[in-house]
Amino acid sequence: MGSAVLRLTAARLAKRYLTPRWTALAASLACAAAFAIFSGLLLKMLRPAVNELIVRPRPGALAELPLLIAALAAGRGLAQALQGVTSNWVGNQLVADLQRDLFSRVVRSDLAQVRSKHSGVFVSQMLFDAGLVREASTNGLIGAVQQSLTLVAAALVMAFSDWKLALIALVASPVIAMTLRRFSRSAVSAASGAMKSSSALSTAILESFDGIRVVKIENSEEFEEKRVQAAIRSRQRHLLKGDNARALAAPVSETLMTWTVAAVLAYEGWQAGLGRTNIGAFLAFFAALMMAAQAIRQLANAFTVFGQGMTAARRLFETLDAEPRIRDASGARALRLSQARVQFENVGFSYGDEQVLEDVDLEAAPGETVALVGPSGAGKSTIVNLVPRFFDVTSGRVAIDGQDVRSVTLASLRDQIGLVTQEPFLFDDTIRANIAYSRPGASSAQIEAAARAAAAHDFIAQLPLGYDTQVGEAGLRLSGGQRQRIAIARVFLKDPPILLLDEPTSALDAESEIQIQEALGRLITGRVTILIAHRLSTVRGADRVYVIDRGRIVETGAHSALVRGSGLYSRLAQAQDLDHEPVAAS
Ligand code: ADP
Repeated sequence: MGSAVLRLTAARLAKRYLTPRWTALAASLACAAAFAIFSGLLLKMLRPAVNELIVRPRPGALAELPLLIAALAAGRGLAQALQGVTSNWVGNQLVADLQRDLFSRVVRSDLAQVRSKHSGVFVSQMLFDAGLVREASTNGLIGAVQQSLTLVAAALVMAFSDWKLALIALVASPVIAMTLRRFSRSAVSAASGAMKSSSALSTAILESFDGIRVVKIENSEEFEEKRVQAAIRSRQRHLLKGDNARALAAPVSETLMTWTVAAVLAYEGWQAGLGRTNIGAFLAFFAALMMAAQAIRQLANAFTVFGQGMTAARRLFETLDAEPRIRDASGARALRLSQARVQFENVGFSYGDEQVLEDVDLEAAPGETVALVGPSGAGKSTIVNLVPRFFDVTSGRVAIDGQDVRSVTLASLRDQIGLVTQEPFLFDDTIRANIAYSRPGASSAQIEAAARAAAAHDFIAQLPLGYDTQVGEAGLRLSGGQRQRIAIARVFLKDPPILLLDEPTSALDAESEIQIQEALGRLITGRVTILIAHRLSTVRGADRVYVIDRGRIVETGAHSALVRGSGLYSRLAQAQDLDHEPVAAS
């Protein structure tokens, strides 16, 4: 990462996440400074301690010096403890903020953006990358300040103890600093790989669970194990590379430091030979040198942690900066609904380069149910997705009661639309909460009425905990039909004037289908409905059928008329052998 990018990332991180809790941060930094000062003072005590207690005992020193040292040590311990506590607090708050911001961004982003990455990437960013940023802001930032000050304190003690010895250490320090920098760089670059491989790992894990039935039926547990193991290994490799770079920094710098010590000892031995020595000063110098060595090592570590965190922060900011393209236009007003007439006017749409819809003119008038029929991949779901603005048209417009859906607020638009899909989604919560999801705060009576309308009340009432039954992850403890009925109850409770149905019975058995057909019949009554029909039998009740082929409407009319024709609809009906009344026979 270039230093300009690093600065920008760090500045942004500081502004958004550190400034709001600057008091705690300042307290932590003050404690770090206090720690360094106490450490320096303790070192300074070594000289009088040795000289006045041991070499040439001074009366009174015995009562003074040990107590003073004990007090300084207590002060240093307190500073260190407070620094740890405050920086942990700042770090954890920062991670929580970052996770909250990330989730808010992701949950508000466009369908297209969410689908462009596997959810595992977001999970890994929220858990792993955010942790690296926390480390950078605590151990990295505060550690760097603490160790720099400690280094300064040690350097001062060295300079005041024996400036000639200090010169020797000064000559050695750039070599040590440069060596440590190399290790730090390689650790930072490893962090980038570790983040990518963490994403790959969480993706692999989530995929194995999402597709657990496929995994089982194909007996591919072992294959999945290997796949996840490969992801784990790749992640380990990167983490290990980073850890090793950090770990190698210690022995290398220690060896260099010890060489410095050897040089210092050689000089001191030579001085002693000349009868010029001050044992107290030498010991103080020596201890300061050791402290400096440790500070340099930890400083290098702090820089590494900081660099890794900034790499992570930059990646997180990329996610945070992905502005949703589908949002309220400036000056958007709430949808004013009178009849809920839905119109597609000359609509064209493409997901990128590929033109998916062309010249689509379609209307669902008040109270009407229109059915979309056509081969798979024709564009039926795409048409449905354009109504609640899951995607925006590329040309033409979609209007509700004459108002372009792009000119009204998203919230007011989606408030008026109910959606029932083939695979109903239930949250890992109670049945009550799952139904009330469309209308938080609904009363028990309202929830029950919705469940009755959806033919769900009877089976719910038979469950031991009734409406308070917890439905497992994705509602797996219920049958497909039961889940669908809960999803339909959710829509009843919302009571929207416009309905989008992606044939909700196509995945069900005959008996469930009958119950759900009845519930859907009640749901559709009095609303404007656009229905994707996979079974032509479903289409009979529709006021109008649009036959879609390769992104265009190729036929329009009532089922009874279309089925007698010789177009695509008639061929589809024949293929399904449903309701088909051959023209020749009539
Ligand atoms: P249908 O519902 O009739 O089966 P769709 O509306 O799902 O058809 O798809 C219409 C076309 O758009 C297909 O060619 C499909 O491959 C393409 N398509 C659907 N979703 C996407 C997407 N998110 N990105 C790119 N192409 C897509």
